[in-house]
Amino acid sequence: MLSYQHAYHAGNFADVHKHLTLYAVGDYLLRKKTPITYMDTHAGRGLYPLAAAETARLQEYQDGVARLWEARSRLAGTPLLDVWLAALAEAQSGASLDHYPGSPWWLSHRLREQDQLRLFELHPGEHEHLSGQAFASRVRYVHGDGLAGLLSALPVKTPRLCVLIDPSYERKAEYEEVAETVLLAMRKVRHAVVMIWYPLLPAGRHQVLLESLRDGGLRKIWRSELTLDDPGERHGMYGSGMLVVNPPWGLGERINEAMGALLPLWGPSARHRGDWWVEE
Ligand code: SAM
Repeated sequence: MLSYQHAYHAGNFADVHKHLTLYAVGDYLLRKKTPITYMDTHAGRGLYPLAAAETARLQEYQDGVARLWEARSRLAGTPLLDVWLAALAEAQSGASLDHYPGSPWWLSHRLREQDQLRLFELHPGEHEHLSGQAFASRVRYVHGDGLAGLLSALPVKTPRLCVLIDPSYERKAEYEEVAETVLLAMRKVRHAVVMIWYPLLPAGRHQVLLESLRDGGLRKIWRSELTLDDPGERHGMYGSGMLVVNPPWGLGERINEAMGALLPLWGPSARHRGDWWVEE
């Protein structure tokens, strides 16, 4: 049932898009001292050596993070890219690119004394990899279902909550399940900042997720979509989408600027759209 392993895809263009958005959200949240609970409902392994057999097999990172790494001096001067690339350098064992950090790494990297992080992972092997990482002591590793785990943990003790939902969408029903979970969670914690990643595939199933959130009455949903090609031009995933519910003020401009600077790395067909899916 759980056949997906993120190690085969680590560092691809979708990871870059997702983790840049995650980092940008963190930048805004960290401006205030108020404690934050972070939840990563689908955590994966946390850190991916690029030489590992799974990652080296498809080498998807070559079309993703490796392009940014090689172009980093040319990209300098775009605020989000500057801080993100500096953090990425800290995940390496030396001066060259040899690891790609997953969402648990990005979230724990800037965890403060007053913050908490809960990492859910259902796959036993992935959970074992993850819980072997030496993240901060305020990190809890939960072997279990992330959507159910999120709902049962609400409300949290801290005044602020930030959630990343990043499923593998192996099952069609996951689009609907994610929407239902987010609608329930937002009823319990109205001010939560929730990020949801989704793939752009020719079948267009992500529309179920987007429409269910809108039709469920959720407001303030910002959308960022990076597409490398038109649908059908490439086999499989042609783009990566991120929704941010309750985005911090100024987030959209910051992401749009960074993605605009990155588009030339992926050639003339690459596009980015950053806009409101549902306004306030
Ligand atoms: N968020 C990670 C990152 O950015 O580095 C990547 C996550 S990967 C796309 C999805 C992960 O969710 C896989 O490791 C998979 O084993 C796990 N998973 C699948 N179903 C799950 C569930 N119901 N609850 C928690 N984890 C699940």
